[in-house]
Amino acid sequence: MPKGQEYDAIIIGAGMSGMAAAIRLAMYDKKVCLLEKHIISGGLNSYYARGKRKMDVGLHALTNFATKNERRKPLTKLLKQLRIPYDELELYEQTESTISFPDKTIRFNNDIDLFKSEVARLFPKEVEGFHQLLDKIENFNEVALDNETVMAKDVVKQYIKNEELLEMIFCPLLIYGSAWENDMDFSQFVIMFKSIYLEGFGRTRGGVRKIIDLLLKRMEEVGVEIIFRNGVSEILTEGERIIGVRTTRGQTLKSPLILSCAGYPETLGLTDLPSNSQEHNQDQSKDQGYPLPRVGRMSFTETMITLNKSPRDLGLDKTIIFHNERDHYCYQRPGELIDPKSAVLCFPNNFSEDDYQEGILRVTMMANYDLWKALDKEDYSLQKEYVLNEAKRVLKIYMPELKESDITFSDVFTPLTVEKFTGHWGGCVYGSPDKSRDGKTPFEGLYLCGTDQGFLGIIGSMLSGISMANLYGLMAQ
Ligand SMILES: Cc1cc2nc3c(=O)[nH]c(=O)nc-3n(C[C@H](O)[C@H](O)[C@H](O)COP(=O)(O)OP(=O)(O)OC[C@H]3O[C@@H](n4cnc5c(N)ncnc54)[C@H](O)[C@@H]3O)c2cc1C
Repeated sequence: MPKGQEYDAIIIGAGMSGMAAAIRLAMYDKKVCLLEKHIISGGLNSYYARGKRKMDVGLHALTNFATKNERRKPLTKLLKQLRIPYDELELYEQTESTISFPDKTIRFNNDIDLFKSEVARLFPKEVEGFHQLLDKIENFNEVALDNETVMAKDVVKQYIKNEELLEMIFCPLLIYGSAWENDMDFSQFVIMFKSIYLEGFGRTRGGVRKIIDLLLKRMEEVGVEIIFRNGVSEILTEGERIIGVRTTRGQTLKSPLILSCAGYPETLGLTDLPSNSQEHNQDQSKDQGYPLPRVGRMSFTETMITLNKSPRDLGLDKTIIFHNERDHYCYQRPGELIDPKSAVLCFPNNFSEDDYQEGILRVTMMANYDLWKALDKEDYSLQKEYVLNEAKRVLKIYMPELKESDITFSDVFTPLTVEKFTGHWGGCVYGSPDKSRDGKTPFEGLYLCGTDQGFLGIIGSMLSGISMANLYGLMAQ
């Protein structure tokens, strides 16, 4: 057994789930060390500075909106578990978003009645099926850890016969949370459906920094030891049990419990087990006696543009537009650097309050990691320009009056940026398609939390951290 400092629990990664798990364990007097390889916390949903500007990396919107008095909603439950007062979030709602296909646009907000009335207006024959689907979703226990994997389109097709409506319903759910291409597990579908259509979008005053600051404050209050710029380079094992970690600074830290939000393949890659490398990532072989989780194929570019005016000055009052130019919606790794024919357009100024000093436009497009990786430095910069121009082209469909002189700043993230700052192989944002719903890995004492436990998004990943900490750190005593 190597010598080293001892903890009740070690958390790998200061993603939202890792931070929530650390707080939960330390609240019950566990000695917790959180190791983060980056210089700041937040993982996929962090922020960065360009000059005087601090830009959110991820946040388009918080899903799972709830008002203060809705006690049984995921958001209010998680705040209660972390002892964070609701008012400290300073949360406000979206105005209205759309799913925009070539010849139909569905409007929706945080009241499902608007979605229902849009279905009645655009797809009158589907009303009954849509209502039955809502019943099915409302009565389904999507968080049961033993739910079998069933593809969602097979289930939803039993209720929705019109292909276009089916694809319009799936579009936001896929691009806001599916590790699978063109479909998703039904439990994941229900999680996403409830969080986006039944609960809806909100935003915290100050964006993602508000959430990160609240989590950092709670970690300090409950005594979590958080160490930045010190990643885990190796998970130490004795037989089938983990005993601790070695860090990139060469320290050995011991613990019988490790929770990791680094991702499933990435976490196994820190052990001495054979794991899928990102170069050979597409087989879920069981030859080793355990499933090798695949590296996800879905990655994205994110374009940020700031304006010297608000989007409303240019006639745009929507919060999020799910844009699709094809007859069908293709949610898959594109054969080119990006898929310019569909995008998510987010207008953070257009919530019920606007606390920004300038106009902000964000455009997300599906991207191919391998093609970005193959570019040389010069081409990489040129292709970022191409992405920016495509983003502007799509924005002008909805804001024809947008001019170059309105733009004060722009920046483009690629799958390589995601990989560099989060450690996620393949720059994949929604993790592996092979989730570990109970968080278990081949090792006793090593569990996953966050995206690859099957709960993603800011709220979903925090819930995952809490539930994995409760299950393996508090209840397993
Ligand atoms: C561009 C973009 C937009 C998004 N928009 C939204 C949105 O609008 N709303 C929403 O709800 N969600 C959004 N998401 C998704 C959301 O950010 C993620 O689902 C969520 O943050 C995942 O959290 P996680 O806990 O699983 O861990 P991650 O965020 O994946 O964090 C993992 C952490 O582990 C660290 N790490 C990795 N390896 C090691 C190691 N060996 N040692 C130590 N540390 C390590 C990483 O540095 C990272 O900090 C967006 C994501 C992106 C990329």
